[in-house]
Amino acid sequence: MAVDGRAGGPHPTDEVPLLTNGDLAAVFHEIGDLLEIKGELVFKTVAYHRAADAIAHSPIEIARAYRAGSQPRIPGVGKAISDKIAELATTGRLAFLDRLHAEVPASLVEVLAIPGLGPKTVKLLWERLGITTLDGLRTALDSGALRDAKGISEKGEEAIRFGLEGLDRRSIRMTLGDAERIVGSIVELLGDTLGVVALTPAGSFRRRRETIGDLDILAETTDPGALIERFTAIPPVEHVVGAGPQKKASIRLLRGPQVDLMTFPPGDAGTYLVHFTGSKEHNVRLRGIARDRGWSLSEKGFLRLGEDGEPKTGSAAELRTFATEAEVYAFLGLADIPPELREDRGEIEAARDGSLPNLIADADLRGDCHAHSDWSDGVHSIEQMAEAARARGYAYLVLTDHSHGLAIARGLTPERVREQREIVRGLNRRFATEEDAGIAPAATPAEGFRLLHGCELEIRADGGLDFDDEMLAAFDVVVAALHQGRRQPRAQLTERVLGAIRSPHVDVIAHPAGRMLGERARDDLDLAWDELFAAAAENGTLLEIDGSDHRLDLSPERARRAVEAGCLLTIDSDAHRTDELAGIRWGVAQARRAWVGPAVVANTWSRDALLAWVAAKPGRIQ
Ligand SMILES: [Zn+2]
Ligand SMILES: [Zn+2]
Repeated sequence: MAVDGRAGGPHPTDEVPLLTNGDLAAVFHEIGDLLEIKGELVFKTVAYHRAADAIAHSPIEIARAYRAGSQPRIPGVGKAISDKIAELATTGRLAFLDRLHAEVPASLVEVLAIPGLGPKTVKLLWERLGITTLDGLRTALDSGALRDAKGISEKGEEAIRFGLEGLDRRSIRMTLGDAERIVGSIVELLGDTLGVVALTPAGSFRRRRETIGDLDILAETTDPGALIERFTAIPPVEHVVGAGPQKKASIRLLRGPQVDLMTFPPGDAGTYLVHFTGSKEHNVRLRGIARDRGWSLSEKGFLRLGEDGEPKTGSAAELRTFATEAEVYAFLGLADIPPELREDRGEIEAARDGSLPNLIADADLRGDCHAHSDWSDGVHSIEQMAEAARARGYAYLVLTDHSHGLAIARGLTPERVREQREIVRGLNRRFATEEDAGIAPAATPAEGFRLLHGCELEIRADGGLDFDDEMLAAFDVVVAALHQGRRQPRAQLTERVLGAIRSPHVDVIAHPAGRMLGERARDDLDLAWDELFAAAAENGTLLEIDGSDHRLDLSPERARRAVEAGCLLTIDSDAHRTDELAGIRWGVAQARRAWVGPAVVANTWSRDALLAWVAAKPGRIQ
């Protein structure tokens, strides 16, 4: 529904809430969709969609202008649509839309949104099979009802199934980077609203889950009304899902996620942050502990329970609120639990007996073992990548362009590798000179910065490695990865990775599960993980947590298991451009979710320590 939560239902006052351009646009898109399903002439339906686009992008606050009696000229908006805007702006309702809803179920608009599904098919599904919702369509697909329906071919059925899957994927998951961009832009837009003390992203994004569905933002403010008014009028809003009683609101961004805003008074942040950060499982445990201690815990604070187990009311009511999360946890007899751990996977017990892990942090990293330049499939030059790493205050960056077996990434031949080595040497001479002369970037650490020469060595489909031992021994650090022959049986895949782990010249296994998250999601490699972990621990081969927000590989569960098996890790950016070097923070977050501390991560060591580790691998050609 387009304007639910605003125009619908009785309003506390007689005043009609002001519709945003996004609300208006959503109404006209919906009319266009419903008319299409009804079988209206195309030019008519297109006119509604065109007007909706113009309204959405107009710089003028259209409903306000109409209410003030002026009717601004909007391209594509003629008399018929203009009259409808006037009706919507003044009454909040539209008789024409109500009549349409009586004829065509509004939920068909969702069905029409399935990629590749046209209005004719939607009409057919509705009239022949009585399908009016996405759930109804899923049920019909599963039961085979579509197959028997006249007018839908086998191909058509397949297209619907595919479209539904696409819809599910698209509407469900964002990468951490996408989530951060959206949250960041909203916080920036709203940050200077009068009364706002702090805006904090919460929910699964704050816990740094691998992929994110909806977004949550918490606002500490003295004037929730002013903030909600601005929030619900953010330009890319598709529609306002619900604006509650002046404390919270939800919007859906155009072709984007739902964003929930929750406000609370200054000084009460503690329980709100805990409640809206989650996870649900973690919060259930906290509420149980509170209850055992005689309190009921909600986002608003702790309420003292009476004899009957219900919160005391009236003059006996007692509410405790806290400004910080640490105080909330302390009130429950727990140490402060970092958001990344709040999944009820042992963190509550650890917080109670003082054994929470010392988690790795961004500042612990002294280098990055996996990055590409424009010599293979990267965007920036070797020098640009090195300078960007130097500016980050690293002691080293390992340049790891692909080896020639990965042709689609323009992998390097041995000849090109040797040319590249000369460039690396030249840059390092300059870096050393600048450090000696005291003119290196201020961020440069005491040990100085060096570009290390490595490669992302292809583990070929036949199990062979892409370069011979002599060639491999000449690199500073070798990172091996499997990109091809992904569908081989588990035993064969495992054997290939084991071969790399056991090679005296392979130092790191990059993105071990070969996973892809978000829109490009694909299955993880089918590997015998415990065998790999045992071999990596035994051979001193490092396992990577790839920080690219499309990979985040190893997963937290696997990384935790690897460390328990005695493995050491690296956390890398796998950057293909200079700005992606900062993506290493997603890898750090992933490591924190895996309870990983700095000691088991090789790139928290000094450069010399890393190189000594590499050189010590048994059987290496020195
Ligand atoms: Zn790779
Ligand atoms: Zn790579």
